[in-house]
Amino acid sequence: MSTVVLHYSAAALTDRGRKRASNEDAFGYSAEHGIYVVCDGMGGAAAGEIASSLAVDEMMRLLTQRAGDSSIVTDAEQAAASANQAIFSRAERSQQLNGMGTTLVALLAEERRVWMLNVGDSRGYRLRNARLEQITIDHSLVEEQIRMGRMSQSEAVRSPLRNVITRALGTQNSVTPDVFELEAEPGDLFLLCSDGLTRELSDTRIESILRESAPLEELCAQLVAAANQAGGHDNITCLLVRAQA
Ligand code: CA
Repeated sequence: MSTVVLHYSAAALTDRGRKRASNEDAFGYSAEHGIYVVCDGMGGAAAGEIASSLAVDEMMRLLTQRAGDSSIVTDAEQAAASANQAIFSRAERSQQLNGMGTTLVALLAEERRVWMLNVGDSRGYRLRNARLEQITIDHSLVEEQIRMGRMSQSEAVRSPLRNVITRALGTQNSVTPDVFELEAEPGDLFLLCSDGLTRELSDTRIESILRESAPLEELCAQLVAAANQAGGHDNITCLLVRAQA
C-alpha cells in the first residue's frame, strides 16, 4: 500500500434544463472539509427548491463545523438525519409545503478513504482507468422491480413509474441513507448527479465525456450541454471530484 497523500479538487454545475420553469436541484461542497452534496427536490416548484436547499445547507453547516472525535461518515449520517428532520418539520407547518422532500447523494473524503451516501435516485459514480462504475443503488420502484427480476432495464426506462422513489429526505419522520465505503486511488474521478443527467445520457455517454482530459469545470459544462441536447426534460446537476497525488 502506497503512502501517497491524495488531494481533492472539485467543480459543479446546475442547470434548469429546457422544459422546467424552475430549478429544484441544489448542490454544495467544501474541498477543504472533504464534503460534497447534490440534492434533487420534489413537491412542486417552491417546495422542491426549499427541500433541496434545506438539505444542502444542513449538510454543509453540520459537516463544516465538526468538533467531536466521531468519524466523518457517522457525522454525515447524523447530518442527513438532521436535514430530514428540518424538512419534515417545515413541511408539517405549512400546507403548501406538505409532502415536500429531496434526494441526497453525498461524497465524503478523508485522505484515501471515501464514502458515498445516498437517499433516492440521485447517483454517485466513479471513473477509474477510463471505466465508469455506478456506486450507489437507486431507491426507486423500477430499481426494486429490476432487482426482483420483474422488470428489464429497457422496460424500466419506459415505465410510467420511473419517477417513483422509495426513499427521500423529509417525507417521513426518519430515514436511513445507504453508505458505500471506497478507497480512492490517484486519478479517480467521482461524479455526483441528479436524474436529469442520467435520464438523458447513458452511462456509456457519460463515460465518454469524462474520459476527456479537460478541466473539471469544462467536463461539467459538457455533461450539462449533452443532457440539454438530449432533451433537457428535467433539472440537471453534476458535481465532479478528482483525487490526485
Ligand atoms: Ca430530477
